[in-house]
Amino acid sequence: MTTPDRQTETETPRAGFATRAIHHAYDAYAGHGSLNPPLYLSSTYTFPTVEDGSARFAGEQAGFVYSRVGNPTTALLEARLADLEGGEAALVTASGQGATTSLLWTLLAPGDEIIADKTLYGCTFGFLNHGLAKFGVKVTHVDLTDAANLEAAINPATRVVFFETPANPNMRLVDIAAISAIARRHGAKTVVDNTYCTPYLQRPLELGADFVLHSATKYLGGHGDLLAGAIVGSKDTLDQVRFYGLKDMTGAVLSSQDAFLVLRGLKTLALRIDRHCASALGVAGFLAEHPKIAVVHYPGLTTFPQHALARRQMAQPGGMVAFEFRGGIDAGRRFMNALQLFTRAVSLGDAESLAQHPASMTHSFYTPEQRAEHLIGEGLVRLSVGLEDLDDLLADLRQALNAA
Ligand SMILES: *Cc1c(COP(=O)(O)O)cnc(C)c1O
Repeated sequence: MTTPDRQTETETPRAGFATRAIHHAYDAYAGHGSLNPPLYLSSTYTFPTVEDGSARFAGEQAGFVYSRVGNPTTALLEARLADLEGGEAALVTASGQGATTSLLWTLLAPGDEIIADKTLYGCTFGFLNHGLAKFGVKVTHVDLTDAANLEAAINPATRVVFFETPANPNMRLVDIAAISAIARRHGAKTVVDNTYCTPYLQRPLELGADFVLHSATKYLGGHGDLLAGAIVGSKDTLDQVRFYGLKDMTGAVLSSQDAFLVLRGLKTLALRIDRHCASALGVAGFLAEHPKIAVVHYPGLTTFPQHALARRQMAQPGGMVAFEFRGGIDAGRRFMNALQLFTRAVSLGDAESLAQHPASMTHSFYTPEQRAEHLIGEGLVRLSVGLEDLDDLLADLRQALNAA
């Protein structure tokens, strides 16, 4: 299955997603005819004259100055990600966390408010509540699965509305179009962490969001061998993020070598995601039938409470599956320790199938009360379904469930 791009009949047909993920913005016949884009390993760039140097610093002459603000290899990755997300521009960073912090340091000032969904990636929660809040930004958590809650909470101080969908780790969905429309009406910017879906499955900018964030560490890189992040949105704001949030505030600059690896990962993104989704559906269906399991959270199951929204907003239901044991935290721990093919590890989106227990891993620095408040069950297990053979994955789950 592919995700058709929305375009009008009068435009020249745009190349498909996989084609653009492989080719966009690079001409293999140029230069030395290298099939792969060159990897530029240079911290600084030379100016023919001091006048050229001045013009480049002033932004009046195209060209690179210093790799903290740009490098030709990272620039190619930025062009490609902007194209795939349907955005004007992109900025890549040293990690997903670097993308979140660089963007929010730029958008927010003391006295502003950020409204964030109740369920967030653990370190995003940490940055908001232990970082931004310390500097005079008001952080308000609202259940954004119901857009009416945003309408009730939003006010003139609200500058940013922030969420993930599906949310990490419990797979709740947020209606991107509905939330973005409310935020826009109130003059706030909508930021969507699209790590779980990638632009192959979901393109928030086309649904009205202002910025997309990625941990490219996950599916975009796809091989568990790097950390990287990205922001996609308007060129004006991303210039501000580049020259302030990234250059001055975080310094979370992506190395060109890691940009090269993400470019390599993108070449197989569509293929990999198709397989992740097909296997995740198989895993979710299997788990849903199992007597030891209370509930499976997977947008592709017809029993999933937001299945209709999933069908509207996502091209396919993704590669992440979460579920809860009837036997609570102890059953979860026994299951985790019995796994043989699934690897006990955090992170996601790799070729290897991974399993993690949020209460003892990614969300362990929440208090139990905070976990309850943010809808993360103590017995919740999260699976990142990898690229191994589905039969082997099911066999491993079957034996680990017997031990649970
Ligand atoms: C991993 C992750 C992040 C943080 O990205 P890093 O690359 O680890 O810094 C942010 N959001 C989500 C949804 C993630 O899964």
